[in-house]
Amino acid sequence: MKLTRIAAAAAGLVLALSATACGSSEKTADKEAGTAGEGSLIGVTMPTKSSERWIADGNNVKAALEKLGYKVDLQYAENDIPTQVNQIENQITKGAKLLIIASIDGTAITTQLQEAADKKIPVIAYDRLIRKSPNVDYYATFDNYKVGVQQATSLLVGLGLKKEDGSDGTATGPFNVELFAGSPDDNNATFFFNGAMDTLKPYIDKGTLVVKSGQTDFKTVAILRWDPATAQKRMEDIITKTYTGGTKVQGVLSPYDGLSIGILSALKSSGYGTAGQPYPIVTGQDAEVASVKSIIAGEQYATIYKDTRKLADVTVKMADAVLKGGKPETNNTKDYDNGVKVVPSYLLEPVVVYKSNYKSVLVDSGYYTEDQLK
Ligand code: BGC
Repeated sequence: MKLTRIAAAAAGLVLALSATACGSSEKTADKEAGTAGEGSLIGVTMPTKSSERWIADGNNVKAALEKLGYKVDLQYAENDIPTQVNQIENQITKGAKLLIIASIDGTAITTQLQEAADKKIPVIAYDRLIRKSPNVDYYATFDNYKVGVQQATSLLVGLGLKKEDGSDGTATGPFNVELFAGSPDDNNATFFFNGAMDTLKPYIDKGTLVVKSGQTDFKTVAILRWDPATAQKRMEDIITKTYTGGTKVQGVLSPYDGLSIGILSALKSSGYGTAGQPYPIVTGQDAEVASVKSIIAGEQYATIYKDTRKLADVTVKMADAVLKGGKPETNNTKDYDNGVKVVPSYLLEPVVVYKSNYKSVLVDSGYYTEDQLK
């Protein structure tokens, strides 16, 4: 509704311009469009600084908005929901003209979003879908289901069941694997897990992959707030309870590099990571520096690269278009139902990173320098 109104106003503006096509009315039109445009304050909230990716996201979004002449209030909430709620409240009070939100719990900010809607402040969900609210205008993210498919595929490649080119590998298994998922309050975590499980299920059904702990449902394997220490503890418990009497875990589906680090350290304390007892195949996500180094060192097996520069770029273009009364570009209007509405989305493409391609994917694209990865 709100956007329809903005679009109608924009259409009116175009009509007015073309009808009178003279200098003075153009100036008036510029001024009108400018009230919510350049120079306006934009509120940007990110979940935490405890992971590199969000620091890069915040910096990239801020820089790109400032380049267009906007003022930016950028806040991090250290994964604390009340803190994020307050930050959004404050941004509304300070007169923000648009909000860009990477939520911690996508259902916990409904009241603030209602306030924003009452004040005609458009909202863009950044990376994570905001759920159970009608007051989300657009969503910029990666193809999250595909991230899950790629994570599972990299696990299959590491085990030799698939090749990097997608063809079948020569290994036959059976292999013992364990599964981890992200935070249950983050909508992305479900998408990642569904993509991964749709890919792994045929192998589990055939007995080629065996989840020896028996823990396969999302609720059991999810790690609240994506906390590495919780993942480490869960891996330790699984090793102690399940991998006794010489049986070994050969693969671990991990949805985020931070969790992979926790998982690898649990494995290390149990004697994995030696020539006689190599690490299992461990997956990841975000291509964070420590994990890319770990891949180069032959510890973590793979990660998923999501170019946060592109995400910032898409989001800032959306924000600018909305504030100027236009309609931002989207490429998906069916997959992201937030429980109240389908949020028009722009999905970017994730890429699998292995030791074999990290240079071409991460260094040649300028995402990292070779020195950063030494
Ligand atoms: C993001 C991932 C990230 C995870 C933990 C998810 O919402 O999409 O890129 O690994 O949060 O920060």
